[in-house]
Amino acid sequence: MSCLQLERLLPEYIKRFEAYIPSKPDPELMRLYGCSRLYRLNNNENPLGPPDAALEVIRNFFPPKAAIYPSGDAYYLRQKLAEKFSKHPDQFLVGNGANEVIGFVIKAFCESGDNIVTADKTFAVYEWVAEFSGFEARLVPLKDYEFDDRGMLDCIDDRTKIVFLCNPNNPTGTYWNRERLERFLDAIDSRRIVVIDEAYCEFVEADDYPDCMSLIDRYPNLVVFRTFSKMYGLAGLRIGYLAGELSVVDAIRRTCVVYSVNTLAQEAALAAVGDEGHLVRSRQFVRQGKDFLRRELTRLGLTFVAREGNYVMIELPMSDTLAYRKLMTQGVMVRSMTGFRFPNHIRVTISFMEAMEAFIEALETILRRSV
Ligand SMILES: *Cc1c(COP(=O)(O)O)cnc(C)c1O
Repeated sequence: MSCLQLERLLPEYIKRFEAYIPSKPDPELMRLYGCSRLYRLNNNENPLGPPDAALEVIRNFFPPKAAIYPSGDAYYLRQKLAEKFSKHPDQFLVGNGANEVIGFVIKAFCESGDNIVTADKTFAVYEWVAEFSGFEARLVPLKDYEFDDRGMLDCIDDRTKIVFLCNPNNPTGTYWNRERLERFLDAIDSRRIVVIDEAYCEFVEADDYPDCMSLIDRYPNLVVFRTFSKMYGLAGLRIGYLAGELSVVDAIRRTCVVYSVNTLAQEAALAAVGDEGHLVRSRQFVRQGKDFLRRELTRLGLTFVAREGNYVMIELPMSDTLAYRKLMTQGVMVRSMTGFRFPNHIRVTISFMEAMEAFIEALETILRRSV
């Protein structure tokens, strides 16, 4: 038997690609960094958890149902979403997190030689999925922490199939307002798909934030992403979806393998949709935490970006990867931003006051020691 010839088996774009390394489980990290408790402020989860009705569904899940395949097309959830957004159920496609639907869209539209356009400092999964699928990802630098409309339009060519916008942007929290977004959509040829990732839309408080679900009626090339992972507190169950014009979603649906969304996730999400009280409470919670961080970071003389979303990005007078390790020894986990091309920056998720205070105390400690 001859030996495995990986070098010949692998396409160039896979050889080049570096796998994402997920963080280890808490007990492992706590042993590694010698801390007795750990505040995870790295993933923008909602510390208030899922809405009550979803908790109830999770508690009462009938165990024998684990043996049965889920609905292959999230039937009831799509009906509920259709009702909520005044659309047809077939205008929604549910996936194993919004992460999965990114792949659906790229597979549906891109072929050899095509490219996608997005920002250099935004959610990295658009770029990653394009690259490990063999497509060029064109990255337009942010301007004043915002997507650069002009720069993106200039970067689009005949082979651009999809433009990915993140609104509000992770990690900067900046957003496209209604007017700017519509101007951009008007300027873009409808031969291209524009994806608007609204993972954090439920946290937005600005009045001029666009209602993209209704813009789908005017711009048939628009595809909107939503998730139950952030505001709805269901990150562990993995469920998100996309919405678009009927024929667009019909095309995208061809690329998705059924049964990727489990029964419990579908039922919990169904119960979670439309719990306005949960949204109001969570927004207020985030506002208070953000106000606290603004005050404290100003007191520490640090530069930071605290706009929309349940996170704040902070510039440090030291390497972010070093800061990450030092904060870990104090039991606080943040997101280091080198991977987002923001060296010397960290992103911190808004959480309970106890965790916010622990973070500020740990930050003060490591900054004091570093001077
Ligand atoms: C968290 C996040 C997602 C992915 O959410 P899942 O539904 O958990 O896969 C997508 N886009 C952005 C901008 C995010 O921050």
